[in-house]
Amino acid sequence: MVQIKNSEQLACMRKAGRITGEAILVAREHIKEGVSTKLLDTLIRNYIEKCGAKPSFLGYGGFPGSACISINNEVIHGIPSAKRFLKEGDIVKIDVGAYIGGFHGDSANTFGVGKISEEAEKLIAVTRESFFRGVKMAARGKRVGDIGSEICGYAEGLGYGVVRKFVGHGVGHELHEDPEIPNFGTAGRGARLYPGMTIAIEPMINAGTRDVKVLEDGWTVITADGSLSAHYEHTVAITDGEPILLTYVE
Ligand code: MG
Ligand code: MG
Repeated sequence: MVQIKNSEQLACMRKAGRITGEAILVAREHIKEGVSTKLLDTLIRNYIEKCGAKPSFLGYGGFPGSACISINNEVIHGIPSAKRFLKEGDIVKIDVGAYIGGFHGDSANTFGVGKISEEAEKLIAVTRESFFRGVKMAARGKRVGDIGSEICGYAEGLGYGVVRKFVGHGVGHELHEDPEIPNFGTAGRGARLYPGMTIAIEPMINAGTRDVKVLEDGWTVITADGSLSAHYEHTVAITDGEPILLTYVE
């Protein structure tokens, strides 16, 4: 069931969203060659807890980290590890949730480690732009399919693969609520959007085909063809006017 948040609940969502966004910035400051993904995870956890919040992902479905940290051809759900180190030229995806006052924030971003290839730069830029095209459709009277068709039309039009198997979602009291927010779809179709809905819009864009598979660890999702993948996500509140990006803190 779709949950409509009142203004008091939206204020809590703003707080959870701000902490989520800030935790990603804390991690970003430490991204460089030689840093383990576990260290980034620990910094994120410490920051969230210092704010009086809880990492939403820790223990979720048995997930062992506070953040999902995925490198290069890993799309999402990478498990932080003390044995996994960032290398110059990598792209790293950091996906974080923070829970406070009964509500979650959920956000992800993709960063380069040192100097990255032109191909990687462009993939990151296209993924981010696809989000901002999609979020323009996050308005009263629009439908979920309007968001997905914008994201997909833009990214596929440039020859990128748009992941189908994993999608965005409602977010609030639960980390994953209705409705699903696919990064593809047909304009004018799907669930209607109403003020007070809070949704995570999160394009996952591959440099190659859209196909993905899950590694034997049961979590890490990788591109089927080994190509690079980027991820960009914000928790967004639908209003009577412009959508509010609750996890955007820059
Ligand atoms: Mg996320
Ligand atoms: Mg999400």
